[in-house]
Formats: sequence, structure tokens, C-alpha cells
Amino acid sequence: MIFYSTNKKSTPASLKKATLEGLATDGGLYVPSAIPGFSDEEIALLGDAPFNDIAFAIAKKFNDGEIPDDRLAAIVEDCFTFKTPLVEIDEGTYIEELFHGPTLAFKDYGARFLAHLTGYFAEEDHTLITILVATSGDTGSAVAYGFKGVPNTRVVLLYPSGKVSRLQEQQLTTVGGNVTALEVDGDFDDCQRLVKQAFMDTELKQRLSLTSANSINISRLIPQTFYYAWGALRLAARHPGKKVVFSVPSGNYGNLTGGVLAKMMGFPIGHFIAGSNVNDSVTRYLEEGRYEPHPTVATLSSAMDVGNPSNFARLRHFYGDNHHAMAADISGCSVSDSETLDTISKVYNRLGYIMDPHTAVGYRALEKFRESNSGFDKPAAVMSTAHPAKFLDAIREALDMDISIPDRLQEVLDKQKISIPISSDYRDLAGFLSKL
Ligand SMILES: *Cc1c(COP(=O)(O)O)cnc(C)c1O
Repeated sequence: MIFYSTNKKSTPASLKKATLEGLATDGGLYVPSAIPGFSDEEIALLGDAPFNDIAFAIAKKFNDGEIPDDRLAAIVEDCFTFKTPLVEIDEGTYIEELFHGPTLAFKDYGARFLAHLTGYFAEEDHTLITILVATSGDTGSAVAYGFKGVPNTRVVLLYPSGKVSRLQEQQLTTVGGNVTALEVDGDFDDCQRLVKQAFMDTELKQRLSLTSANSINISRLIPQTFYYAWGALRLAARHPGKKVVFSVPSGNYGNLTGGVLAKMMGFPIGHFIAGSNVNDSVTRYLEEGRYEPHPTVATLSSAMDVGNPSNFARLRHFYGDNHHAMAADISGCSVSDSETLDTISKVYNRLGYIMDPHTAVGYRALEKFRESNSGFDKPAAVMSTAHPAKFLDAIREALDMDISIPDRLQEVLDKQKISIPISSDYRDLAGFLSKL
């Protein structure tokens, strides 16, 4: 498959080039030259297939022969070793739990697939690829765990000292092996600046085969279609003749974009609800047709605090820059922090299910959609993007109680932190990288 840049200026790229470059050279985001289609027969055949068979069938179309089928199948098996449960918490209302990967958040799907593809392409070129990332928390841990132990790759993470949560810091600094954490005396902007400077050093970039693994990489987007296809097929089987509505808690809109691709490929999806917190640039666009991004505001659903979401360019591209077409498929809904806490509490009291603040935004957005669309009788699934134990403070505030921490998280909390302190002066980072 050939990939184009949304800015239409740089030359089209193979899957390998698009994956290793991340951002296109013209600053645009890579999009597939055509959206692969699934016929009704193909979809019927996948009807009750296991998750990895569905994942492979989709990946194969985006790959289009670049990676041999047997290797691609093995990559899919290595990536998705955990379950994607659909929990019916109320009649016709499901929670699709995307938090059973190693860091207990949905970013594991994208990070693991990207890591294994990168490892494959590095092996093909007989090189060792160095992934250099600045992180303010969750993206970095998904990348660290995604690349952990993947041959032909090593990861260098930069995080701002004292500015990430304790759990996040533990997740960044205890992976070991091919993952090194640099603790920067500065803020997240310093970390980003240092990484940018390293990428501008062409000699260094070449010698270390530097790549960025950032969230807009096409190989993080592709696997985010897998769980929509899986959820839609499962629910179509349980609710014959109906198409599922997905409610998606959104920040950078990468998760939602994966869903839109799955719908356009032909999977039985009826509609999307894009739940945002008060960072509502896309929500307002969907309602009014004008895109006017605002500065970012901090909220309880912090992984969704994005004022100017980068995947909006991709969404626009897929809808041919047509507001009407996008709004026909996606309804936007913004949810405040107090509604978020209220939702966590009401859902727990009524249904006994504990959701994290991001999931609660998606759930509340679905409720509001139902209130204003009477006669709505379709099965609906809220994409649950994180395990509630990752957000203990919000859960305590909403429910006035502590919840138990899964063993996997407790193990990470108990491990010895290993980081290398550096200053925010580029010479420190250059010195470290020159010894690799
Ligand atoms: C990243 C993230 C989101 C937002 O996903 P986007 O793809 O950026 O819209 C939502 N919830 C959690 C827990 C996240 O980590």
C-alpha cells in the first residue's frame, strides 16, 4: 500500500518508509492512498473469528505484500497477547475494555504494533534503530513497553523530572533492557526541544537510525481499526440487523480515526459519538463547521487535554474536507469535570461498574446523545481507554473509596527506579547519545 501526506507535498511512501519517518517530510500526516474495502462475504467469514484473525485480515490489506504473510501473522500474534472484552453493563450498552495490555491503556495497541513493525524493518536493513521520545507520561510508557525486548530496536525516553505521576515515572524507569530513561531537569517543552535538536543533527540521526514513534505514526493508527472491527462484528452477531454505535473518549482523535477507517472499510458500524472534555475544538467544529482551536485546559481526563488535535487533519482528509459528511457520521459532545465525577459515581451506584475518568467522558457523551435522539435502540459500546486504577485520585474523589490495584501495576510500583539525570542543555543529551 502507498501512503500519502495530508499536506500532499512530499513523495508517496511505502509502509516501511511511512512507519520509519512518522511525520511526512512536508509536515503532514500519512494516510493510505485508498481505504481497503471488505466485501460482505469477507465480513461474513470474519463474523466469529478470533481477534488476531480479524487483525491479520486488516493488516494484510494495509501491508499489501511488503511484509511476508507468515511474518505479519507472527507480528500480530506477538502484539495482541491480551484480551479485548466487551462487557454488557446495561441492556444494549457495552464497555469495550481496551486496557488489558501491559500499561493498562489503549495506547498499547498502537505502540506494540508500531514496535514490532519497526523491529521487522530494522532486521530487514540489518540495523539497530534508536527510538528517541519525549514524554509527559502515558505515551512514553506505552512506547517503552511496546518496544521492550523487540530485537534490533532500543528506546531512549526523555521525561521532565518531578512532572509526571509516580506511577508514570515507575512505568518509564523500570522497564530496563533496551529501554533507557533520561530524567530531564526541566519541563515537557524542554524534553521536546531536546528531541527536536537531536533530530536536526543529521550525522547523529543517521548513525543511530533515529526515529520518533510518536502518536501520529500510521503504524499506530492501523491497529486502532482492529478493535472496532472486532467489537462491531461481535455486537452485530448479538444484535442481528443492527449496527453498533461507538462512543469514543477523544483527545488527539487517533482512536476515533481508527474507528472511522474501520467503518469506511465496511465493518458494521452505524455512528460515532466523539466525547471530549472542555478541550472541545473538534466538538465545536462538528456542531458549527468552523475549526477554531483554543489553548489547552487541564482536566481530570488529562490524556485528552489537547487544544489542537493533530489527527483532525486525517479525519478531514477521510471525509474529503466535507463538514456535512463528517457530521453525518460523528456527533461531538463535550463533558465537564463535574459531569465526569458524577458519571463515575452514578454508574458505580446503579450498575456496579467502575470506570476511569476518560471512559466516563465517553459514557456521559453516549447518555447525552441518547437523550437528544429519542427512539435510539441500537447497541452502543463505549471505548474504555484506561483501567480505573491508573486514576486513583479521581476515583477517590468520585466514589470516596480506594480501589484495589491490579498485580501488574503493583509490581511496577515496587520496582527500583533507574534513570539517568541530564540537564535541559542539549550538550548533555548529545554527550549521552554520542556514547551509544
Ligand atoms: C491517549 C488517551 C486518550 C485519547 O486518545 P486519542 O487517540 O488521543 O483521542 C483517551 N484516554 C486515555 C486513557 C488515553 O491515554
